[in-house]
Parts: sequence; C-alpha cells; structure tokens
Amino acid sequence: MATDALLAKIISQAVSNTEYEALQQYLKLAKATPKIQTEDLSYLGEDVSGIYRQVSPNGKFEKSISLDKFTSARNVPAATGTLIHELTHAADVALDTQVRTTDNKQLIDAYSKLALDLSSPYKPASKQREQLAAKLNHKSEVDTYRTSNDELAAFGVGNSSGKPSTQPGSAHLDSTMATEFMLLLDLALRDLKSKGVQQ
Ligand SMILES: [Zn+2]
Repeated sequence: MATDALLAKIISQAVSNTEYEALQQYLKLAKATPKIQTEDLSYLGEDVSGIYRQVSPNGKFEKSISLDKFTSARNVPAATGTLIHELTHAADVALDTQVRTTDNKQLIDAYSKLALDLSSPYKPASKQREQLAAKLNHKSEVDTYRTSNDELAAFGVGNSSGKPSTQPGSAHLDSTMATEFMLLLDLALRDLKSKGVQQ
C-alpha cells in the first residue's frame, strides 16, 4: 500500500470518532494542527508505533505526528488509536501554552487541579495526574514512562477511543484520564471561541 493511501485509510477510520473530532477541532482553533505522516520509525525500537514531534528547522516551528508505516499497515485500527494518542500529545502541549496566557479563571483552575502546577513556569512541574494515577493504579506498576504526566493523558484518550488499546492501564486509569482531559479540552475550546478565534 502506498504511504498516502495508508494514511488516508487510517484517517478515514478516525473521522466520526468523538475523541478524534474534538482533538482536531481544538488543534485547529488553537492553530496547533500538526502535520500527519507515515514513516519508518523502526530505528526508535520495535514497540514504537507513533511519535509527536516539535522541531524548528531553519527557525520555523513545526509540529508533526509520524506513524510507523510497518506497524500501521499491519493493523490500521490500532494505528488509528495511535493517531489519537499522538494528537492528545499535540493538544496537551497547546493547552499548556493556552492556559499560561489566558485570563479565563475557570480554565486555569481546572487545569491546575487536573493537570499541572502552574506555579512552575515549565512543564514537567506537576504531579497531579501522576498522583491520581498512583491512587487508581492498584497494580502499582513501576513504569515511569507509561505513568508520566504527559503519557497518562495520551494513553487515556487513545485507549478510551474505542480503538485497540496499547499498554492499557489498570481499571479506571485510562477512562479517568480521558474524562479529565476531554473536560479540559472542552473548557479550552470554549475559551478560544469566547475570544472570537475564527474557525
Ligand atoms: Zn505518548
């Protein structure tokens, strides 16, 4: 399958998915839509099926999502779940930027409570998601990658999208993280709309 045909197939399975549509709508309004492509990611390790990147070649800031072309071709529904996972990373980064520049108290309060400690100027400040995950995670797996602040939201939304799960969390972990993230996304979307950001 040609690469762009594969990507078209993955995206065709994503549209009409609630999480995918909400993420894309938010990213568009936040002007943070990443470029989506397939590529050979095997050099990153055999269990890496996708990656979200922010790079600035030639000083121009670029956001992109790459899906591994081999694992995606073998399992398109799983690749769709991976795409939603990576879009959550993109939205998480955009949310962080938005919250730090908005005057919307409701959004700031929700974000501080559910995601991050805004008293710190840089991102990996907080442990809110990680602390909640530790409470929910009865198996108390020692997996700092899977249960890191950034990954909790992405795995939560990706695994709650109805697509095949990757590294599913303990009972309630993914659904709780997804519910909280989608709530933040909704508040952030309203904030952008209230400021008259054009679609
Ligand atoms: Zn991730």
